[in-house]
Amino acid sequence: MIDYSKDTLDSSTDNIMSTEFVPGDDVEGSLRPRTLREYIGQEKAKQNLAVFIESAKRRGEPLDHVILHGPPGLGKTTLAAIIANEMGSTLRKTSGPAIEKPRDLAALLTNLEENDVLFIDEIHRLNRSVEEILYPAMEDRQIDIIVGQGPAASSITITLNNFTLVGATTRSGQLSSPLRDRFGIDLKLELYKPQELKTIIERSAQILNVEIEPEGALEVASRSRGTPRIANRLLRRVRDFAEVYGDGVITKELADRALRMLDIDPLGLDTIDRRLLKSIIDNYGGGPVGLDTIAATINEESVTIEDVYEPFLLQQGFLTRTPRGRCVTRRAYEHLGLKFTGPETDLTGQTAIDL
Ligand code: ADP
Repeated sequence: MIDYSKDTLDSSTDNIMSTEFVPGDDVEGSLRPRTLREYIGQEKAKQNLAVFIESAKRRGEPLDHVILHGPPGLGKTTLAAIIANEMGSTLRKTSGPAIEKPRDLAALLTNLEENDVLFIDEIHRLNRSVEEILYPAMEDRQIDIIVGQGPAASSITITLNNFTLVGATTRSGQLSSPLRDRFGIDLKLELYKPQELKTIIERSAQILNVEIEPEGALEVASRSRGTPRIANRLLRRVRDFAEVYGDGVITKELADRALRMLDIDPLGLDTIDRRLLKSIIDNYGGGPVGLDTIAATINEESVTIEDVYEPFLLQQGFLTRTPRGRCVTRRAYEHLGLKFTGPETDLTGQTAIDL
């Protein structure tokens, strides 16, 4: 008989539902799809990209600059690597916060070889003076650098090799419009549907040599907040559980029990999601309440709530954003087993009176 008692479970459940990269995700590299064909879901983005890649290749030109929007863990880095691979180019990776000074970016750009793909993750976090170097680089393949100091200083223009910039951002609203306007291809990644995540899980299980039944894969998929990074992580945790408490095969029942023990409920909400919703209900009558107030109440960073927790809660219709703050919906009350007492809102957060 399997013993599912709580105290037998590994207690390190911290971060398990984080969409951000955490220690233990290093295996991700081996799970990354390498071609557009292997990349599951995101049909619209994929179709557009396939056309742009094909036509750039036919013209023998580099691909236009690409900006990818979407919450963490949805496959932006993976897509950047696929673009480089499909174009037969080399990928160079960096991130907004890693480029502190204009000269750091100038060095990166002047070292690019013909047709390289430069990936800048969290591009919204580039500082203004660095960003300004990018404008002429993206537009005319040129950068101006100052040599010498004082009255002897002079500016020289360097012409760069052809390159494609792929920027990724979790915060479209924070991209400056001059930067945004310079990307020819603008792709928004959406949270994945359970069936798509099921395919991703089955593919990963095959790579990791894990036996999983289709219903087991769907169970894990439905509780992964629409995010491949979480789906792959939960697969690994449920696999451990199957090895210790079962015969190594992930069935629906085993997945369900393992996920319950990890405090992930049937809709994929974890303890922090529930704490967030409950604190708005208990302390602010269901809202509206400002993001910073919520953050202080549950002791999390505002940006973490906005980037990591909210996208899924909004998509599931548990939370709405209104000009006056966040509101918890009737669906969330019902999911938490509470009687609905808040104002009636539609999914745009308008109250019934406004409608
Ligand atoms: P982001 O850059 O958006 O944070 P990543 O590209 O690092 O996300 O993706 C996280 C992990 O999820 C990758 O290692 C990859 O294994 C998996 N993944 C993401 N998108 C897909 C997809 N469309 N198909 C299969 N696996 C995916």
